[in-house]
Amino acid sequence: MTDQTLKNAASGVLSLEAYSPGMPIDELQRRLGVSNAIKLASNENPLGASDKVKAALAAAVARENLALYPDGSGHRLKQKIAAMHDIALDRITLGNGSNDIIELLGRVFLGPRRAALYSAHAFAVYSIITQAQDARAVVVPARPATDAQPYGHDLPAFSKALAANPDVALVFIANPNNPTGTVLEPREIEAFLTATPSSVIVALDEAYFEYLDAALRPAMRAWLDRFPNLIVFRTFSKAYGLAGLRVGYSLSSAALADVLNRVRQPFNNNSLALLAAEVALDDQDYVQASVELNARERARLAAALQAKGLTVLPSQANFLTVGFGRDAKPIHQGLLEQGVIVRPLASYELPQFLRVTVGTQAENDRFLEALTVVLKAS
Ligand SMILES: *Cc1c(COP(=O)(O)O)cnc(C)c1O
Repeated sequence: MTDQTLKNAASGVLSLEAYSPGMPIDELQRRLGVSNAIKLASNENPLGASDKVKAALAAAVARENLALYPDGSGHRLKQKIAAMHDIALDRITLGNGSNDIIELLGRVFLGPRRAALYSAHAFAVYSIITQAQDARAVVVPARPATDAQPYGHDLPAFSKALAANPDVALVFIANPNNPTGTVLEPREIEAFLTATPSSVIVALDEAYFEYLDAALRPAMRAWLDRFPNLIVFRTFSKAYGLAGLRVGYSLSSAALADVLNRVRQPFNNNSLALLAAEVALDDQDYVQASVELNARERARLAAALQAKGLTVLPSQANFLTVGFGRDAKPIHQGLLEQGVIVRPLASYELPQFLRVTVGTQAENDRFLEALTVVLKAS
């Protein structure tokens, strides 16, 4: 008798490849027997969580009744977010990471007769949710390698593709983009929003917003009042140093937040994560220190990589995308054997590139030394 278990599973899910995360340090140590491995693969904050967050969590574990469900509305955190952005509470959606919100959007707006539009070399979760919902993907070719924003989003091409594909319900823009680190000028995004019909939801993913140069920071708050089809994501996983706790949020119209709330798991953020995010929002000194460390080390790392003759894409994020001019897989493997985990980009159709998170000075030195060894051997 043949096994019929998956006979009725969604066809999009059956042809889907699961997201492959950066390898955890434990796994590398288990697999290769190396010790003192470092992970520069998932764009986490190398400073760890802020001391204030750690202290608040320790006190909360002792004090709070963890047997109780969390506040499903996340009211206290939403109040802080509302004050920060001068926005009404009913326009905020909290997610179990911003990935959760991407998924909520997909559940509401994508399905068999709908399409999502995004750039080549854009964040993998956009294509995963599209396929999982049995929706069509309209993947817009990226800017050329010779552009000032190599492999970056081409918004005029987005507009043309929108006109040619009336089934597009949802557009994803990552700014800065992962894994390229490329940015869009605020006026380019504004022109795209102005040209896009309000029946098309535009999701602006600002996971790396805090790392952007001041002149490149979009005026998204004003846009939210002008464009009811705009939704903006932010996360606590990068500059706020809380990737392990899974908190992100979106700002949108109240109507859009309301439909997302209908499919949201009632308790999608746990109580400790909610508390940590509240404390983290108040600790802007830590964010500032994280951003400054990143700017300093990113410039130093880029210069050292260029001095080795490698291509470094211009990055406004907390990672560098490095081109080797040949298949990067053996270099990735060599680095693993040296106890350094970085991110291969073959699944992003950038097989000659590796993405490396900007770490602490010591981590970056360790990476550069390992890379020297690997390049010499190959
Ligand atoms: C890291 C990242 C996120 C954040 O994901 P979380 O679920 O909030 O941890 C979102 N978008 C992009 C493009 C990212 O690189």
